[in-house]
Amino acid sequence: MTFTQLGIIEPILKALKDEGYTHPTPIQAQSIPILLKGNDLLGCAQTGTGKTAAFTIPILQHLYLNNSGPRGYRKIKTLIVTPTRELAIQIADNITQYAKYTDLKNVVIFGGVKQGGQTDSLRRGTDILVATPGRLLDLIAQGFITLKDIEFFVLDEADQMLDMGFIHDIKKIIAKLPSKRQSLFFSATMPSSIIELSGKILGNYEQVTVKPEQPTADKIEQAIYFVSKNNKPKLLVHIINENPTSSVLVFSRTKHGADKIVKFLDKSHIKSAAIHGNKSQGARQRALGNFKDGVSNILIATDIAARGIDIDELSLVINFDLPNISETYVHRIGRTGRAKASGIALSFCDLEERAYLKDIQKLIRQDIPVVENHPFLVDETEIIPATEKLSKNQKKKKKPHLTHHKPKEKETTGEQKHRKPFSNRRRY
Ligand code: AMP
Repeated sequence: MTFTQLGIIEPILKALKDEGYTHPTPIQAQSIPILLKGNDLLGCAQTGTGKTAAFTIPILQHLYLNNSGPRGYRKIKTLIVTPTRELAIQIADNITQYAKYTDLKNVVIFGGVKQGGQTDSLRRGTDILVATPGRLLDLIAQGFITLKDIEFFVLDEADQMLDMGFIHDIKKIIAKLPSKRQSLFFSATMPSSIIELSGKILGNYEQVTVKPEQPTADKIEQAIYFVSKNNKPKLLVHIINENPTSSVLVFSRTKHGADKIVKFLDKSHIKSAAIHGNKSQGARQRALGNFKDGVSNILIATDIAARGIDIDELSLVINFDLPNISETYVHRIGRTGRAKASGIALSFCDLEERAYLKDIQKLIRQDIPVVENHPFLVDETEIIPATEKLSKNQKKKKKPHLTHHKPKEKETTGEQKHRKPFSNRRRY
């Protein structure tokens, strides 16, 4: 199957070729024909499957073919609503790439920044609007946006929207849409609340499921480090020092925790930046931009800030805390191993997190191998109740071998060079 066989028009094909996309991903191969026919779609797909292009390509094609005459003022014909600012920016960037040989325009709006730049862009007119829910409703209320001309509506990362408490905003937005429209609804997981919401948004729809959780987990090399809560920062420093050229995305369950990690790393002469909801939009964009461009190679993120973030050549994801929601683990490790690349995901697990680990392993239907040879190993025979011990199939594992995609120079202090990583070995 090729994009040409899917009936994609030349200007879009050319842009896809520039991006190096040779073949559609499964979600694209399944969704594009449905969307080109004009049907509604419920897509169950996780990030990293190529779903942005799956919904963007057919929408661009419809807009391009229906707007071939002379252009007057552009009315907003497509609305894409997504939970986080970072994801909104990323989707808009992708649209700009895929639409570069068409005259279709997109504008992205999100909260946390002054609205002036966004309202100026809106005044100039746009075919496609990518928005987070709060700023969208705000600018509608101020009269900068009308949804009365919407022909295509996309709700992306719907499960995350509900988790973030956007349900009322989403309902308000849907109420403002024309009833005649094509609607697309994407979610990585399909709990009953999502199925119920999809019933409200979609008309007669077709459903596409790209095997929900397993594929990402399968192609990513994973490992667990049993460690006490207190020793997690030291273990992180140890791993970073052992892999100085890797780009590392570290997940913290809380914003406060993320800031504490940055401080601890700083004391150990390791530069890092945090992105989370309490940071200004400018600071988040800067940290993310530096990380994507390889200027900095350690980013500490909370789940919401990192959801959907697409970073090429991310070698390592570290779960500093294990998430209490198992699906979140799959989203997190999906930051590495994007598209066809393979990746490595390491997770720190303290005693309190053992139950979370059990749930995660159940969800991904795998026993994650345990790293035995690290200096902060908690001796599980001493502290873990017998019932909680490793399952029979749980393999013991040597440290994973990291492949370095993009060697980067990193300053090494004299202290780091001469430090013996295993000299402070302790047993608990
Ligand atoms: P997404 O799930 O939309 O976040 O996409 C994940 C990654 O896959 C992004 O880096 C895209 O640029 C990439 N991608 C999307 N479609 C294709 C394709 N057909 N071939 C290769 N890479 C793709």
